Amino acid sequence: MRFATTGTRNARTTGRGPGRAGAGRAPLTGAVRPAALVPAAALAAVAAAHIVPAATWLPRLRTACLPGLAGIGRPDHIALTFDDGPDPDSTPHFLTALDALAVRATFFVLGENVARHPALARHIAERGHELAVHGWTHSRPWLPAPGRDLAETARAARVLYDTTGHRPQWYRPPYGILTGGRWAAARRTGLRPVLWTAWGRDWTARATPGSVRAAVGADLRGGGTVLLHDTDHAASPGCWHAALGALPGLVTACRDAGWEVGPLAEHAVARA
Ligand SMILES: [Zn+2]
Repeated sequence: MRFATTGTRNARTTGRGPGRAGAGRAPLTGAVRPAALVPAAALAAVAAAHIVPAATWLPRLRTACLPGLAGIGRPDHIALTFDDGPDPDSTPHFLTALDALAVRATFFVLGENVARHPALARHIAERGHELAVHGWTHSRPWLPAPGRDLAETARAARVLYDTTGHRPQWYRPPYGILTGGRWAAARRTGLRPVLWTAWGRDWTARATPGSVRAAVGADLRGGGTVLLHDTDHAASPGCWHAALGALPGLVTACRDAGWEVGPLAEHAVARA
């Protein structure tokens, strides 16, 4: 995942923005008819319900207030997670590196990528890793779309089950933006939303193995969940090399601290 401030691909491809509400209209003067206020108030309520839950992406806020959503688990364990795959150009390198380190992880995959590369998705599961839902596409929720949220989340969960034979347990929305609609969609699909406590900032063109290790290390505590990416699907081309290069040092540092590294399924994620 990647936020808007770190790149331009989504701005280019969507070409959309919130627009200027009311632009071109005459300013309201004098008494305003109550009826005229209703649509604005309703719109504000809809916008609040849509976007307020998204504030949970603030990592330190959710670590303190929503430990289950942050992915806080047992204190002697670190959950290792990868987003945005599977990708035949990069994911196999991560599987090889994880095998060499004797580590299993959780892969939050996109339904469209699983549909495109089912054998690779199956291979991830056969190597003992856990697959989870990251959405159908890597979309950004500009406007509330609860019907589409539910349809796409359910479709992604279904393609994972049909492809691997395992029912996914976890959901992490693209960009970590957990809107009200996505939250409800995950719950109705039987998925638990889980974000992260530490990330590698591995989606930028400037990322290096050293920068990724440092970024993760800045926020990592026992019981934490690490976010990395096994693909450049929604990021700078080739940036996955930085995450891949960071893996041995990260795993060694965790083990030196007395923390086991594994998937969310073994993390005993907090219920709160
Ligand atoms: Zn993502």
